[in-house]
Amino acid sequence: MLVEHDASGLTETSQETLTFARDLAQDVAGLVVGELGPELVDQLGTHGVATVWNAAGEAFDAYAAAAWAAAIEAATSDVAVVMAAGTPRGNEVMAHVAARRGVVMAANVVTIDGVSPLLVSRQVLGGAALEEMRLDEALGVFTVAGHACEPRPAQGATTPVVRPVEVSVSADDLRARVARSEAGEADESGNLTSARVVIGAGRGAGSADGFKDLVELTELLDGSLGVSRVVTSLGWRPHHEQVGQTGSRISPDLYIACGISGAIQHWAGCSGAKTIVAINTDPDAPMVTKAHYAVIGDLHEVVPAINEELRNRRRA
Ligand SMILES: Cc1cc2nc3c(=O)[nH]c(=O)nc-3n(C[C@H](O)[C@H](O)[C@H](O)COP(=O)(O)OP(=O)(O)OC[C@H]3O[C@@H](n4cnc5c(N)ncnc54)[C@H](O)[C@@H]3O)c2cc1C
Repeated sequence: MLVEHDASGLTETSQETLTFARDLAQDVAGLVVGELGPELVDQLGTHGVATVWNAAGEAFDAYAAAAWAAAIEAATSDVAVVMAAGTPRGNEVMAHVAARRGVVMAANVVTIDGVSPLLVSRQVLGGAALEEMRLDEALGVFTVAGHACEPRPAQGATTPVVRPVEVSVSADDLRARVARSEAGEADESGNLTSARVVIGAGRGAGSADGFKDLVELTELLDGSLGVSRVVTSLGWRPHHEQVGQTGSRISPDLYIACGISGAIQHWAGCSGAKTIVAINTDPDAPMVTKAHYAVIGDLHEVVPAINEELRNRRRA
């Protein structure tokens, strides 16, 4: 499995994917690209990883999907399944792995429905529908959709064996490579795609100044703010907060959609939420009819009332 990590260790989506991998196979190996510290090895041990492959050196100093795929190919010549988290990077690298091995790849798998042959269900149409797919080649290659399972450590920790990946990366593999990276605009939405609570805001917010209460609700629930395309198109909020077909796909435990009509392109990004609450003045809005719960009312009255109740409960 391709392991993604950041300064604080294993990413949440990698922890989920390791949990998913353990449910599928007893013997799980992880591949880490770049520097591999002892803390990360320990963390992989708590997730039951027996072997940690490490691809390091000049060819891996900057991200290059084809080079990462070459490393995975070198390390996994005798395995039945290769997987990664369904992140942009995980999907790109797995697509390269599948192309190199001449097999199909399934992106954003949510369940394994059979192992011989490998049958998977995966999210398609931006999460609006599930597709069953059969991977009956010698090598199964797929990525695991965010929040497909709860991340949990293995029952018994392992002491992983660390092995360097012996791979010669060709010039072709380095043709598309990150040349430079720079800090993006400040992201007030937190980690939208992995947030457990997302407060959604649409045209109903009214103007760029109409988000104060929504931002406060986001803070009170320790969540992230996600918005509709109308909101980003009007310049009320930055694009990185957009949820939907052309924004982020989210799968929180709770999505509170405020003043959002629920157009199919928005729904494509939020339908993975476990519980959806709509706050809308229109009882016939698609978001209201599809939501698990709805409050029919003006968000500028409803949201401050919720905030006040939350503040009172915290003080109590
Ligand atoms: C190719 C393509 C890609 C797209 N991609 C995306 C995407 O990624 N994400 C996305 O969101 N959209 C996307 N769209 C746009 C999408 O079709 C909708 O236009 C958009 O989602 C509507 O945004 P909205 O719900 O905020 O606005 P509206 O559709 O105008 O709905 C506003 C809602 O707010 C309610 N409301 C108004 N005032 C209040 C109030 N005071 N209190 C409570 N409720 C109130 C109204 O009843 C209404 O339901 C895409 C469209 C296309 C064609």
